Amino acid sequence: MRFALVFFVILSSSISGCFGTDDLFDEKRGEPGGLALACLQDDRFDKMRIHFFFENGYNPDAMELVKTRLNQVCDKPGGIQIIAEEINFAEDNSWSADDVRKVRWKHGSDAMDGSTLNWYFIFPKGTYNDDSVLGVAVDASTVAVFKDSIEESVNFIGRPSAEEIERAVTVHEAGHLLGLVNLVYTSPIDHEDPDHPGHSSNDESVMYWAIDSSSIGNIFSGSIPDEFDADDLYDLEGMASGELKCSDQLWS
Ligand SMILES: [Zn+2]
Repeated sequence: MRFALVFFVILSSSISGCFGTDDLFDEKRGEPGGLALACLQDDRFDKMRIHFFFENGYNPDAMELVKTRLNQVCDKPGGIQIIAEEINFAEDNSWSADDVRKVRWKHGSDAMDGSTLNWYFIFPKGTYNDDSVLGVAVDASTVAVFKDSIEESVNFIGRPSAEEIERAVTVHEAGHLLGLVNLVYTSPIDHEDPDHPGHSSNDESVMYWAIDSSSIGNIFSGSIPDEFDADDLYDLEGMASGELKCSDQLWS
């Protein structure tokens, strides 16, 4: 019996290590959208810090924009603070979701820190292991944006520019942390693209499915959205007010 228990503990800790999810005694890391209410409401977290961890030469272009977008929808009377930090991740140049989680939890701290909510935006050198991915949300408080892949995705007319794409991708990933689209709730509005779950079917929304894909330069030849559309905002307001029920919240 004792043997079985010990075996179970070892087995479950090795599984969690393998997928980079919850360790037995660590804070729960959750799924993208799992800290949506923690951001949208002020019940427990009245302050927020958005941390930008970037490799040398990979400075994020959209730090202020992300803060602006979050301020528009999140209730943070104590304010939202940007913290930018250059870090040598010392990783190879092909990133898995697990690699992203590893550097975030190595260099960052708990998402839920007293009355402060911490979200992490990682800007690594290199590409995701699927190099058609420009950005990815890997748990409830962590996203990564791949600037090398964004550079590659620019079309021959250079519109949208790499900087414009990066701004859209960064806000898009923040939108996934907010639970968009239908990640932790079900919208009464039909705006999720059936072929791209978790994404908007509206090409005027920053949550449009092509925003975090390298096909973006072929799909847009001009400006791209870096704002939530009316349907996204409707969902976020419904979640914040409690009208829309949210699942899988790490705190609520
Ligand atoms: Zn996406």
